[in-house]
Amino acid sequence: MRKMKALSIALTLFCILLNAQAPKKLSSAEIHHELQKLNFLGTVLYVAAHPDDENTRLISYLSNEVKARTVYLSLTRGDGGQNLIGPELRELLGVLRTQELLAARRVDGGEQRFSRANDFGFSKHPDETLQIWEKKNVLSDVIWNIRQLRPDVIINRFDHRSPGTTHGHHTASAMLSHEAFDLAGNPNAYPEQLGAVQPWQPKRLFFNTSWWFYGSREKFAQADKSNLLQMDTGKYYPKLGISNNEIASLASSQHLCQGFGRVSTRGSQTEYIELLKGDLPNDKSNIFEGIDTTWSRVEGGGAIGEILTGVEKNFDFNDPAVHLPQLMEAYALIQQLENEHWKNLKAEHLKDIILACSGIFLEANASSASTTPNGNVKVDFEVLNRSSNQITLKSITINDVSASLKPDLELKDNEKHNLELTFSIPSDKTFTSPYWLNEKGSLGMYEVSNKSLIGKPSTPNAFQVGFELEFNNSTRIRFTKPLIYRHSKPDKGELHEPFVVLPKVTSSFADDVVIFADSQPKQIALAIRAGTDSISGTASLNHPDSWEVKPKSINFNIAQKGAVQTVYFEVRPPTKESEGFISPKISMSGRTYDKKLVEIIYDHVPKQSILLDSEAKVVRLNIQKSGENIGYIVGAGDKVPESLRQIGYNVYPIDIATIEEGTLDKYDGIVVGIRAYNVLDDLRFKQPILLDYVKNGGNLIVQYNTAGRWRQQFKNIAPYPLTISRDRVTDENAKVDIIAKNHPIVNSPNPITEKDFEGWVQERGLYFPNEWDAQFTPILSMGDSGEPAKKGSLLVAPYGKGNYIYTGLSFFRELPAGVSGAYKLFANMLSLGKDNVEKENEIKG
Ligand SMILES: [Zn+2]
Repeated sequence: MRKMKALSIALTLFCILLNAQAPKKLSSAEIHHELQKLNFLGTVLYVAAHPDDENTRLISYLSNEVKARTVYLSLTRGDGGQNLIGPELRELLGVLRTQELLAARRVDGGEQRFSRANDFGFSKHPDETLQIWEKKNVLSDVIWNIRQLRPDVIINRFDHRSPGTTHGHHTASAMLSHEAFDLAGNPNAYPEQLGAVQPWQPKRLFFNTSWWFYGSREKFAQADKSNLLQMDTGKYYPKLGISNNEIASLASSQHLCQGFGRVSTRGSQTEYIELLKGDLPNDKSNIFEGIDTTWSRVEGGGAIGEILTGVEKNFDFNDPAVHLPQLMEAYALIQQLENEHWKNLKAEHLKDIILACSGIFLEANASSASTTPNGNVKVDFEVLNRSSNQITLKSITINDVSASLKPDLELKDNEKHNLELTFSIPSDKTFTSPYWLNEKGSLGMYEVSNKSLIGKPSTPNAFQVGFELEFNNSTRIRFTKPLIYRHSKPDKGELHEPFVVLPKVTSSFADDVVIFADSQPKQIALAIRAGTDSISGTASLNHPDSWEVKPKSINFNIAQKGAVQTVYFEVRPPTKESEGFISPKISMSGRTYDKKLVEIIYDHVPKQSILLDSEAKVVRLNIQKSGENIGYIVGAGDKVPESLRQIGYNVYPIDIATIEEGTLDKYDGIVVGIRAYNVLDDLRFKQPILLDYVKNGGNLIVQYNTAGRWRQQFKNIAPYPLTISRDRVTDENAKVDIIAKNHPIVNSPNPITEKDFEGWVQERGLYFPNEWDAQFTPILSMGDSGEPAKKGSLLVAPYGKGNYIYTGLSFFRELPAGVSGAYKLFANMLSLGKDNVEKENEIKG
């Protein structure tokens, strides 16, 4: 259901989203809006921890009503979350969410920045967060962003004074911002940054509060608000034909992988911010009070302001091109400014306005989406002036490339010109891939050696094309456009993709983890993909010493770019338990290639190409199990079925609509996927049949559900009373005690010891029950440091002839990560009570 909902929202947003990928083409109302922003010299930095934390109502209000440069600094890229729309998880989810944030900013007019902090998963306390993030480094990034952006005002999404009440990342983001506010202007703090940036002291720090932080609307209504500023973020913009809160809804609806598609709202809506540092404005709606936000704040800016406010006031909505002479005059004056910060910012902004006013179209379109180093690419340049202004195209240049054009071409009104150039990619050109994934980072921080990239939302385009235009035979301006690949698909229409530089060959395994439940070898497929035409070479595998791979190497030969050849290796595990990694080594004319290419393709974000180390974890397990055929009720989506298949189970998805009395008897066990009772409205109607299945001798394993509203309507998730709480154990290394030592679930067929809880990833588990009927036996006890141990992670109750098992352990993370102990415990859950059955059969036979 939720998937369907997301899809329908995606469809209603279709046209807006596709437009978001194409370069923006401004109407005269939008040009005027941009002019107003050009004439506002003030900056706001909004700080939080994750994609989706940001308050788009406030960001849009500051950007579109106040007209300030408004930047959202999200400390992380949201790698640790779940994905509602596709398979991307971990670092790939971070790439998708980065693009969703950029899509949101294209809608609300803000800008996007990041730190190197990694979203490592849920954190209960900011102390833990700051330790894992390496506080010194992430604070350095916050200060770096402040010094680069020079905000007058900083607004924190979260309260730095309430550690432990929300996600540790949230509070940590506010604490870091609070500390950075005092340090950014101090030349002794992070002095290694100086040179590239200058110290900068913002004027005010706020916390974006709301009634929620006061406990209730009533309490907030009565609270002292003398320290609060308030703004009406429901403003209507007649020129744009949309209200601020409608823009905000459209912006946050870009977070589709988080299920944030939402309906738009309208009408007056008050937003509150609490002053934390700096002086309290008299006008309680003006965060910039006392700060000069006109052109006069810049030395030499007065004259520029006079010209540009003149254009703004007397703007000709029918023919914006008439303003070109004044815009050129202002541009020339901006070039003389000594303040590099405002000079660069405003010159770029004015250049966009100059192009828009003249209806100038500039595009560099590659003949294909990608090329390799040393490869050739043909580029079509489209150049068009749609005004009566006298404009000449002097030259076209490309960064890192010596090839150029010097056409000296007069651009007559609405006469289109297409020019062509073929150039070859330099042999040392770096591949196009998210810059923060190029090096091996730590659990909490990405490694980025190229300091100039820190803070940037994404990797700069592979090639920037400079179009030098001359206006009225005098002023020359160089306009930069990214090299893109524009094409069409019959079912999508026109598409814009970034042009990328990729390796000649990439290769990938079908699975990230391969489990060997016995000593039999497995055929491992390696898909080799050609990045250019006619490639040939050999493929072999690196593998741990005790493992065997045959053959040693395999020849491949691929005629066409983009085609894939799959080769197969026989991988034989050792007889003893063992784990390690296999990785491909592709050799071609003396060079080796070891990357895999992952593409992320959705309608609401530009296509992303990501190069990662190609590898698969191989695990040899001595694992015993009873039963063969497992029914799986898919919930919010997890990879547990694939993992169970790897250890030899036949797993059949169960369509809940077809569940009838008697249809489940064929299964040796039934597993309910994560959050199934949260997302499948109809599952509760089938619950009596599921419980009958247990009564008749089946095993039902229910994985975690969140403690949501469904509990009120539906009390019989288990055959006996069971209360799901928000208890979770987030430390994946938290000590685990086996408290029901004699229970078969920890003894048979695989003996489980504390060693089986080593090597777990991200967390132990979540949403553990905290109250249960005496029929349940708690099996394990565990807790995060400083908290009482919790016993609800794995509960087993006999019911009739079968067993009911409820578990909040994070099997959905541990099994796909190849964690041995998790496999053994899961096999025991499925085998519970089955030994007897098999013995009975033996006796009968
Ligand atoms: Zn968050």
